[in-house]
Amino acid sequence: MLGLMQSQPLLISSLIHFAERHHGDAEIVSRRVEGDLHRYTWRDVAARSRQVANTLDSLKLGFGDRVATLAWNGYRHLELYFGVSGSGRVLHTINPRLHPDQIVWIANHAEDQVLFFDMSFLPIVQAVHARCTTVKHWVALCDADKLPADSGIPNLLSYEALLGQQPTGYAWPSFDENCASSMCYTSGTTGNPKAALYSHRSTILHAYAAALPDVMCLSARDAILPVVPMFHVNAWGIPYSAALTGAKLVFPGPALDGKSVYELIEAEKVSYAAGVPTVWQMLLGHMKPNNLRFSTLKRTVIGGSACPPAMITAFNDDYGVEVLHAWGMTEMSPLGTLCTLKNKHLSLSDADKMKIRLKQGRAIYGVDMKIVGDDGTELPWDGKAFGDLYVKGPWIVREYFKGEGGDPLKDGWFPTGDVATIDPDGYMQITDRSKDVIKSGGEWISSIDIENIAVAHPAVAMAACVGMPHPKWDERPIVAVVKKPGAEVTREELLEFYKGKAVAKWQVPDDVVFVEAIPLGATGKMLKTRLREMLKDYKLPGL
Ligand code: ADP
Repeated sequence: MLGLMQSQPLLISSLIHFAERHHGDAEIVSRRVEGDLHRYTWRDVAARSRQVANTLDSLKLGFGDRVATLAWNGYRHLELYFGVSGSGRVLHTINPRLHPDQIVWIANHAEDQVLFFDMSFLPIVQAVHARCTTVKHWVALCDADKLPADSGIPNLLSYEALLGQQPTGYAWPSFDENCASSMCYTSGTTGNPKAALYSHRSTILHAYAAALPDVMCLSARDAILPVVPMFHVNAWGIPYSAALTGAKLVFPGPALDGKSVYELIEAEKVSYAAGVPTVWQMLLGHMKPNNLRFSTLKRTVIGGSACPPAMITAFNDDYGVEVLHAWGMTEMSPLGTLCTLKNKHLSLSDADKMKIRLKQGRAIYGVDMKIVGDDGTELPWDGKAFGDLYVKGPWIVREYFKGEGGDPLKDGWFPTGDVATIDPDGYMQITDRSKDVIKSGGEWISSIDIENIAVAHPAVAMAACVGMPHPKWDERPIVAVVKKPGAEVTREELLEFYKGKAVAKWQVPDDVVFVEAIPLGATGKMLKTRLREMLKDYKLPGL
């Protein structure tokens, strides 16, 4: 027997409709490429996203056509989020940190029809436009009078000029909620990038889940600063969840240095911020020497790569900011787990609570997970056994765009490529990415554990642990270290620093290699493949 409730497709247009109707005067504040602060409201986002939809109609874009962006976090990007998807086109956010050849490759693969870009990325567009064979219109996110006269890009259009010609009225179409709404390419560290193609349904379900108290805990009382980029996995879904909750949004634009982020948090009374560890490293690095405090920031969600314990304690103990450690991936929209305590943990000591907070967290309703051994059997949730982490749920990929890479699932589960433990309370902890795992004498060593200890040293800015070939042990770990500016530490002092820390003696790295920088990928993650190439002539001590 069918239930007798109304059936309405879950569409992204319903989010902006809701935000306009019920939170019309909540603010959206953006630091612009132009340098100034721009402010307006959800009501304005709604009106201008309808102008975006009319613009796309006037450019003769069809249903399901891909519309690309190369843009920072800002209000115009937000309008595109709603205008493009709401009108039935697919928003393809491109990561501007990718190599231009990769940008060409993915724009052609996605068959992007229009590309909207922030003026900071004009040089990229100049480098790629002639090779992007499907793009018919290049639109600069600026006023008509800011368009460069001699850009070399044929028929370069101004976003503001286009929108200015369009009415603010538009009837959002209704269609199947399983239609594609946006897409994001993985960074493709091995082989060509593959795209996750999100649907309206997956996006809305993810936005609901992300807002839950034990997930990101977002509300109409929050002022949210997504430092995590809108060009990668939809800024963890925050633009959608903010519309769904009616929160104030604060966008940092291109200014991601510690000083700018701090000033924005204070000026706009930000209560909630989200970003990857490297961004917070810059923020804390600015605050400490300048003796600064937060007056409104309460919580920050940190994910994308393992959050070092030293960062969690610094936020918590020094600044009274709760850190929510999160784990996810492009293929998961991206949220999979978040680390919040359970009722039974409330009476634990601070030290014991911290042990839990360091983990990547427990599954959100909508995501099921399991760990499996090499033979494919499921491993126990004892917090010790570690194996390949598999997930499934309504916002996790079934297959990649254009079937690239074949069927990624195994018995309906998506293999994440991460290696993890799960404890009896369901808290998952990543020990490594499977391709970075270090195997020494038949035992596995967690590179994350080794890195966390190194970055807890006051002189260390960044650390990356990799395995080096060893005739007896197969591999032995070494740690590549970037020193903080002006700080000094020797190899011996750092190795000594491992004593008495939570690693067994045989897990302590064999060597410390000081490097100027650790190569980072387009999403700010350490590129260990590149690091291993850098160290190809390296020999372990004594060999
Ligand atoms: P890409 O590596 O293609 O940039 P994603 O941005 O989707 O892909 O990153 C997903 C991966 O990032 C995860 O599979 C995991 O290895 C890593 N990751 C994300 N969050 C965390 C975290 N909190 N701790 C450790 N690793 C993380």
